[in-house]
Amino acid sequence: TQGLQAIERNSRIQAQMISDLLDHASIAFGKIRLTPEAVDPYKAVRAALETSSSAAQVAGVRLNASFSGWGLTVDADPDRLQQIVLNLLSNAVKFSNAGDSVDVVADQVDNSFRLTVTDHGRGIEASFLPRIFEHFSQQENSTTRSRGGLGLGLAIVKQLVDLHGGSIEASSDGIGLGATFTLTLPLSQRVSSTLISESQLLSTLDLSALAILVVDDDADSRLLTTRILKEVGATVIDADSAEKAIALIAENKPDLIVSDIGMPEQDGYTMLRRLRSMGYSPEQLPAIALTAFARAEDRAQALDSGFQDHLIKPLDPQALLRRIASLRIPEERSPSTNA
Ligand code: ADP
Repeated sequence: TQGLQAIERNSRIQAQMISDLLDHASIAFGKIRLTPEAVDPYKAVRAALETSSSAAQVAGVRLNASFSGWGLTVDADPDRLQQIVLNLLSNAVKFSNAGDSVDVVADQVDNSFRLTVTDHGRGIEASFLPRIFEHFSQQENSTTRSRGGLGLGLAIVKQLVDLHGGSIEASSDGIGLGATFTLTLPLSQRVSSTLISESQLLSTLDLSALAILVVDDDADSRLLTTRILKEVGATVIDADSAEKAIALIAENKPDLIVSDIGMPEQDGYTMLRRLRSMGYSPEQLPAIALTAFARAEDRAQALDSGFQDHLIKPLDPQALLRRIASLRIPEERSPSTNA
């Protein structure tokens, strides 16, 4: 099967090279057609992270993502935007060493969306940096070739970013010191239809009747979840450990739990199993897992431990609110049954 895997991998690399060449040709001849629409850039990044996660896992590379702010919109072709991000992520993984991590940070700077992808791998020589976005450019190094590619990926990325009115930059402190790629895209000026429908969802969603317990050992992510839930009127109590959460539940009788899984003393799985065995039923106290553990097995384990749902970090606020609504807002109040 090792032989088969190698064949499969090679044919995948070859297919990628061919599609790179075709892309490059059509951009060069001005033939590429962008279909811009109002896009949530975090969605594109999240999708690219999910696509890259198995390659990263195989390479022994950890993808750390952190998003701040939400509800941003850029005018972009969603497939092309994803292609841009995917390219940066796959290079970062490709040039990392096993055991390294890749840090993906998305935020808003002035009127732009900014994404930085930082790896701690092979690094880029200062003399090569200015040519990195040129076509067919690769750092002279035999290991580069062995990692596959034509040196077109970044040329295409640069052209696509230009077509979107954005910018892309590369930096590195040198060989062996990793590399950082920074993408910026202007935020959309017009109010988009998708934004309207999303904010409509937010304004029609009234969680003021609910008391929600947020459990997470990470202060930033606890705060973000809390802020989103408060915005739709929920009463939020929070705990930074499973122990504290269990004490708070007895005291405050919340309507729902949103909990992290990986926590230092007692993890979310154990906490939920304990709660269910203490007699808190899923109907009485539904629970949503919110975790960076994104594999199908992780979801299965969460459901098996007594969670009703499983959401992946970085948090998608709309998704969280929708799941809460479906678990907790009575049927007669949902629009579909009114229609
Ligand atoms: P390729 O298909 O060869 O990966 P790219 O255009 O994506 O083509 O990248 C061009 C070259 O830039 C790579 O061959 C590599 O030498 C360098 N490069 C790109 N990303 C990184 C990175 N994260 N770390 C180190 N070198 C990189």
